[in-house]
Amino acid sequence: MNFEKVSDLMYVKVIVDIKHQDVNKAYDYRVPEHLINDIQKGMRVIVPFGAQTRMGFVVDVFDKSESATKDVIELLDETPAISDELFLIMDDIDQHTISLYSSIFDTVIPSGLAVKYDKVIYLLKPNELPSELETFFSKTGIWHLKKSEYDLLPKLRRLQDKKIIEIHSEYKQKTKEKTETLYTYNTNHQYQRTSRYPLLETLLIDHMYTKKELIDLGFSISNINTLVKHEVFIPKLSTVFRDIKHLFNIEDKRVDLTKEQINAANKIKDNLNVYKTFLLKGITGSGKTEVYLDVIEKVVKQEQKALVLVPEITLIAPMAKRLKSRFNRVAIYHSALSEGEKYDQYQMIINNDIDIVISTRSGIFLPINNLGIIIIDEEHDASYMQKEGVVYHAKNIAKLRAAYHNIPIVLGSATPSIESMYKAEQQEYQLLTLSKRPKNIKEPDIVFVDMKDELKNKNTSIFSMTLKEKISKNIEKKEQTLILFNRKGYAPFVLCRQCGDVPKCPQCDISLTYYKDKNQLKCHYCGYEKPFAQTCEVCHQKTVKEVGVGIEYVQAELKRQFPKARVLRMDKNVTTKKGSHEKIWHQFLNEEADILLGTQMISKGLDFPKVTLVGVLMADLSLKIPSYTASEDTFMLLTQISGRSGRHLPGEVVIQGYQLDHYAITSVKKGYDQFYKEALYDRKISKYEPYYHISQFLIEGTSYLKTYQKAFMLKKRLQSLENVIALGPVPAYIKKIKEHYRFVVTMKSKTIDMSEIKYIIEELNDPNIEVKYYPNLDLM
Ligand code: ADP
Ligand code: ZN
Repeated sequence: MNFEKVSDLMYVKVIVDIKHQDVNKAYDYRVPEHLINDIQKGMRVIVPFGAQTRMGFVVDVFDKSESATKDVIELLDETPAISDELFLIMDDIDQHTISLYSSIFDTVIPSGLAVKYDKVIYLLKPNELPSELETFFSKTGIWHLKKSEYDLLPKLRRLQDKKIIEIHSEYKQKTKEKTETLYTYNTNHQYQRTSRYPLLETLLIDHMYTKKELIDLGFSISNINTLVKHEVFIPKLSTVFRDIKHLFNIEDKRVDLTKEQINAANKIKDNLNVYKTFLLKGITGSGKTEVYLDVIEKVVKQEQKALVLVPEITLIAPMAKRLKSRFNRVAIYHSALSEGEKYDQYQMIINNDIDIVISTRSGIFLPINNLGIIIIDEEHDASYMQKEGVVYHAKNIAKLRAAYHNIPIVLGSATPSIESMYKAEQQEYQLLTLSKRPKNIKEPDIVFVDMKDELKNKNTSIFSMTLKEKISKNIEKKEQTLILFNRKGYAPFVLCRQCGDVPKCPQCDISLTYYKDKNQLKCHYCGYEKPFAQTCEVCHQKTVKEVGVGIEYVQAELKRQFPKARVLRMDKNVTTKKGSHEKIWHQFLNEEADILLGTQMISKGLDFPKVTLVGVLMADLSLKIPSYTASEDTFMLLTQISGRSGRHLPGEVVIQGYQLDHYAITSVKKGYDQFYKEALYDRKISKYEPYYHISQFLIEGTSYLKTYQKAFMLKKRLQSLENVIALGPVPAYIKKIKEHYRFVVTMKSKTIDMSEIKYIIEELNDPNIEVKYYPNLDLM
């Protein structure tokens, strides 16, 4: 026991959850006496803030303050929501980006911990209420103010001053434990008439039944009520766990690791308590996942925990299937879970009830104690970077955490990013290679088809003759086919064949995307939409038609050409519903379809034993995206999708396109090392990563001229720095959003000095023009 006297006065610094530059700092508050013993750094509090009541995070506890004038109202946590480790991570994000503190808090802690604010207005003097406000109040004189009604607040405050109404701020935690009444059968009851309920004899003693279970067993609701009244059933309000349901079955098929797998696993296992990064480079299907499983087994034996990241929600289920087959205590965390499920998984993690966590990018912040390893599968994937709001890369956060815990990181990929491969060459990462598929299954045969030749031969279909024949054969053989149609950066739009007009978004100056199933045109930046009309608004002819090919069209064509084939489709539009990815994956795995058509979503990590043919439509489309990573992205996409073919039976790949002689496409056959050599050379010549850091500034304002001028000044200012190349300004990819013109200035530099950059942005400060810094290219 510590009987030291606690100082009489205590203060905390609090960052309030309001996203505004003007309040982007910590404020001092007094700690009332009853909270002095409990309050700690990292806990959430409720504080008065101006006329409001807000939630905030305690970032410091201390005993002197000049500026504190108000008291903390309430303490929300018993243990800190933010650990010291998380504070270190937040500091790092703060140093490397330009973000508001409250946004950084939102990024690193789960949304389930957020607090909901509610403003409630109570009517005191109905007779004096202005008549236009009457309809807002319920019969009992209560009005829950909606966000859209907040602009009425000044008026309401004046009414409050006159005591006509009273405004209350209420707050509650958004997500809570789920509770439910459970019933136990009390055998010591005194009730005489139980013979009326023969079902009672079938009940288990000491078992807790839900009401639904009792009803399913044959009890009626009135039976249950009677039995409760006579204390035959003892009801108890209990916390229930929201289990994540899976469609897959769990069966562990242990394999004997190959020599290469054993070697790779041993190298990692020998370094379990060392901060070190391994790059596990293994061709598709070479058994990288088996290496992870073997390493995790040792980590868990040591009573440490493993964090496994996958780049997309689609890959959660397949990874969960492999991990849950071998390990019991596995948590799953990603954005498609309900708030309640997230809350429960989070509780399991902080209560140390798990050994392994599988997650997408955001899981890198989960407060896992006693972390033993971080595995980042498909490490090259761009989804590991958070591009909106607070920008961060999961790999960088992983490095901070691994250094903190003194543990290894494993980056796995068949196609490592250029940066990672370069680091391996420089000995910064240790390279581990898997060069063969186990059981000597050959890599698939790859055929390239030039669609210009098809046109010459009068084939105007989106499928080449070769691909068509192979699909038909595959359907006959009852083997499965994957068709990749990657429409990233490409969307169907409509055009008037008479005058050439393309309907555009009135606010964003980009073509409206055509959604065939809803027959609507929609802007996919701001959401503006209108119904499709055949009549042109400009020339009034009935000649407006769809241009280009959308995935729905490909699906319709597949159905038309192969009427007997069962076709499934996987893309963003059909997978927005919770669990829908897993459903499609599971249906295809169970051979409930012959063809799976999809976007890049189907290219990654999926292991379908019956797939022996992969067809790629318009393979060169992604080369046309204006980005310095276009060739890398194209090569990786094609290699990954090709790797889905022939994992268990001999396989083939047909790659169709118009420009197939680019190294990003030819290397799909020659292999990663060939691609890496050419790509690295390109990067060197054009001064890109890993030779130069590249970052961008986005300058936005309502005046075209002034915004351009500001961008130009910024460029000049950057050019004056040593070892910096500044490019631009150029209009952004999206030139205008919501009446704001946008320009981009690109910076290439050997090093990045954030304090310098922050200083320059402050120097250029102008209330009408916003300058944003993106620590990487292609983020806007
Ligand atoms: P990757 O993660 O590299 O794509 P996986 O670990 O998914 O590869 O392995 C591909 C397939 O080969 C899986 O079905 C897996 O069970 C199987 N496999 C992996 N290693 C072996 C092995 N040593 N012996 C037999 N089968 C293996
Ligand atoms: Zn728009």
